[in-house]
Amino acid sequence: MKNYTTDEWIALDHKHVWHPFTPMGYWREQKPLVIERGEGDFLIDTDGKRYIDGVSSLWCNVHGHQVKEIDDAVKTQLGKIAHTTLLGMASPPSIEVAKRLSEMCPGRLNKVFFSDAGATAVEVAFKMAVGYWFHQGMPEKCKFIGLAGAYHGDTTGTMSVGYSDLFHKPFISMVFPVSSFPAPDTCRPPHGFEKSMPKCYAEGHWPSEDKEHNEALSAYCLGKLEEMLKSHAGETAAIVVEPVMQGAAGMVCQPKGFLKGVEQLAKKYDVLLIADEVAVGFGRTGHLFAVDGEHVEPDILCLAKGISGGYLPLAATVVSDEIDRVFAGDDVMERRTLYHGHTYTGNPLACAAALATFDLFEKNDVINHARKSAEMIHERLRELLDHPNILDVRQRGTMVGIELCRSRDDAEPFDFSKRTAAEVCMSMREEGLIIRPLGDIIVLMPMPGMKHENLSRMLDVVVKAIKQWSFEK
Ligand SMILES: *Cc1c(COP(=O)(O)O)cnc(C)c1O
Repeated sequence: MKNYTTDEWIALDHKHVWHPFTPMGYWREQKPLVIERGEGDFLIDTDGKRYIDGVSSLWCNVHGHQVKEIDDAVKTQLGKIAHTTLLGMASPPSIEVAKRLSEMCPGRLNKVFFSDAGATAVEVAFKMAVGYWFHQGMPEKCKFIGLAGAYHGDTTGTMSVGYSDLFHKPFISMVFPVSSFPAPDTCRPPHGFEKSMPKCYAEGHWPSEDKEHNEALSAYCLGKLEEMLKSHAGETAAIVVEPVMQGAAGMVCQPKGFLKGVEQLAKKYDVLLIADEVAVGFGRTGHLFAVDGEHVEPDILCLAKGISGGYLPLAATVVSDEIDRVFAGDDVMERRTLYHGHTYTGNPLACAAALATFDLFEKNDVINHARKSAEMIHERLRELLDHPNILDVRQRGTMVGIELCRSRDDAEPFDFSKRTAAEVCMSMREEGLIIRPLGDIIVLMPMPGMKHENLSRMLDVVVKAIKQWSFEK
């Protein structure tokens, strides 16, 4: 690779690279960081400056960068083969990942379909759900019910279930219609929910932690789901949810018991439950999988991001034996084959990284480590309870959303175009921390395995940056 200067890299990037989710006109007026290396919890740019990776390299890194065990596993695999296909052949790394996943996932989830991105993992789940009913003579059960505000990826099917006017308006001709039920969002309660947001700061907790309020909110949303199922279960293939905390939706968390309620309704009305754990899986909620903490067993579990430790593109759609049985049939002529696949399905290098990642969960006791991290975060952010520009702090495990507002009294947001949270996050960059907001929500997404000293440093920077910022009146 060429040895350009930072300015040359930036000029070439501006000339040739189209970045994801990025207003490119604006981008080309800015000087981006060019990240060249990583070391543990740190990213290092082309000028040698070090930053704590507070976004887990967009929610996927688990144990840090240049982790010896994962590096070695990938190198060892490179000494054998980089890629071989799963179409008509098998490979040891993919077999072992599938075996380990079926041991790790809830009871009946024992069959693994590989792909290479979160969106493809979910897209495959949609096709499996529709096919499952089709092959049992119920082709009319082909629709989906999603959770309001959902994000499941950017392929056409996932875009349909997560449709948003802001992101997808030009593509409305491409999406299929999907119904959604309201999310138990404390700060943006659904229309028709009577109670107003609790102002409980002086009582020492955040609105999203207000038990009584959230129980009422949860019951309301589940009631709406039941209404929809009562009239539409006969044409519904599956309910799709991002369990425990909806990430890209704005770090919207679900009260305890909500997911159980969804599971019970799915069973009662005979529709499948698809859990998208692309973001919340692999330790982020303080459980290996978010559904574990709620004792919920979905029919299909979608995994990506953290599965390879954030090293290489790998995704898995893990399904129940029951769903597998419907597709398996004994006769080729039964035409039940799932004709779906991606070229790099089950890539051996990515699978080797995944196996090393799984081992590190045990070796480093990452779940307990992440639970302690969650306590540290919770404790530290209480310092912001009396800050007039913080509407809510929402947390599940090590995933956090700090929602900013112009005024707490009427929950008034900042003018969207002012990019307030983005500016606050920029000020943290000068202190050696990389954080990326969602609108005016500051998102903290430390690696589940982040060292506590680095987490503590990260929290210092975040709290200080918010306290020092002069927010617009
Ligand atoms: C990131 C994400 C996806 C999409 O994953 P990609 O690998 O970017 O395709 C899907 N669902 C959720 C919940 C996500 O956070």
